[in-house]
Amino acid sequence: MSKVLNSNPSGANAGEGESMSDELFSSPFLWQKQRRDDISAASDAHAVVLQPIGSIEQHGRHLPLDTDSWTAGVICVRAAALAGELPVLVLPPVWWGLSPYWMTFAGTVSLRVETILALLGDIAASVREHGFDRLVLVNGHGGNSGLIEAMAAQLSDERLRVAAVSYWKLAPETIVSVSEVDHGSSGHSGEMETSIQLYLQQSTVDLGRLEARDCTDIDVRAKLVGGTAAYLPPNPGGESPSGVYGAGYAGTAEKGKHVVEAASIGLAEFVKKFWAAYRASNSAAAG
Ligand SMILES: [Zn+2]
Repeated sequence: MSKVLNSNPSGANAGEGESMSDELFSSPFLWQKQRRDDISAASDAHAVVLQPIGSIEQHGRHLPLDTDSWTAGVICVRAAALAGELPVLVLPPVWWGLSPYWMTFAGTVSLRVETILALLGDIAASVREHGFDRLVLVNGHGGNSGLIEAMAAQLSDERLRVAAVSYWKLAPETIVSVSEVDHGSSGHSGEMETSIQLYLQQSTVDLGRLEARDCTDIDVRAKLVGGTAAYLPPNPGGESPSGVYGAGYAGTAEKGKHVVEAASIGLAEFVKKFWAAYRASNSAAAG
């Protein structure tokens, strides 16, 4: 079966810097750019649907508010391009997430848990209604992690299987290997996020506004949770008055490129397995 959508061989290898800044809006795999019959054909081909979700929240003085949504969205369209013949569609990003702890900084727009559950639930119901059977929630914001996993559990049934993944879990070894200061931690507006934005949307980054003394040492978080896997939301008032966790000043576009490319490959690999696994089980059930 050929890929349902009009292919764009360059999609996975967009140019460097600002030339690729619009890939989130120009990818041929965007759900909203298809015609009605294209969606039916994609559904018939059991296309995997990707739903990026991020946040609109303060990211220090130096990064744009849409850092998390932009990252998740680009990784989705790159993964769609990397999936080869396998049909993939990328829904418009859910731009907002759960960010109540950043509300004390200008610009943060946080949804309530109930709103996010309702929003993702309605989107999934629509995807299901059109006959799709595989949906992946692809997250770019730490505060959403628990929510998207809960949604995957609640929304999945025999007909529609829903998976959830945060992009930094798609490339853990790469993040560690490129990290010079933050030990591979994602932090917040630290080394990793700054690197990714320098790579994906450099014109929105202003490193001149960031002072190294504003970057709370990433180890503060590690000490708080004592090396356990406990989740503890950011607490800027008590830990990071600047709203930055990690070494934003250590960010480079080159590091960001490695992370985005590795996460995109990781997502494409997952999508392939997800698609194949359920095809196999459906065939077995049918047989
Ligand atoms: Zn972020």
